[in-house]
Amino acid sequence: MARRKIAAGNWKMNGLAASIAELQKLTETTAACDVILCPPATLIQSFAAQADDSGVQIGGQDCHTATSGAHTGDVSAEMLRDAGATAVIVGHSERRQDHGETSDTVRAKAEAAWRAGLMAIICVGETEAERDQGKALDIVRLQVGGSLPAGATPANTVIAYEPVWAIGTGRVPSPEDIAEIHGDIRATLQTIIGDAASDLRVLYGGSVKPGNAAEIFAIENVDGGLVGGASLKAEDFSQIVRAAG
Ligand code: PEP
Repeated sequence: MARRKIAAGNWKMNGLAASIAELQKLTETTAACDVILCPPATLIQSFAAQADDSGVQIGGQDCHTATSGAHTGDVSAEMLRDAGATAVIVGHSERRQDHGETSDTVRAKAEAAWRAGLMAIICVGETEAERDQGKALDIVRLQVGGSLPAGATPANTVIAYEPVWAIGTGRVPSPEDIAEIHGDIRATLQTIIGDAASDLRVLYGGSVKPGNAAEIFAIENVDGGLVGGASLKAEDFSQIVRAAG
């Protein structure tokens, strides 16, 4: 089965109510790929209502492991679902770094996402120091193995390979390096979930722009992108969506 590409946008801590104008423009783009926009939690409900049946799905950027309870400031997967989200990013490197999230935490968050009926977009990726030390493959293998709960399927899970040093820097690994890591992730998935691995989508993230998206998405085992900065403006993100299909 051919894997349908995904163009996913991560707005991070950006966006106010008026930003819905960008979503309105984005919904006018005809896409032959899955489009998922992840605004801050404050905008999910209004964005989901606006996106409606346009084909653009709305996702969260993180979720707590619990359904509800005494966790001030946190948002549960059930709350995201209730607001209209269909997916959630877990284990973004900014969460791993800023909030000390380990792969164990990320695995529990992916399980929470499934419990609520959300697709989990699980992020992995090495730091620059780890790449310089020749450890990129090992680190990514460990993160995939540690962050993926038992029961992962192509329908409930997407992996996003995001080298930390490429996020927001304008630097992108060579096509050969992207192909090497994505091929290795596919092989790791095969050892964990067997033949279903060939249908599970693996995105690349890190300084994807309108000018490089087509080249990156053409690399073997790259099934689309997780896009930060270039997803904030519909004009740019639409070009990336078109490059994905
Ligand atoms: C991201 O934060 O997931 C990301 C890939 O950011 P950027 O596209 O800005 O590098």
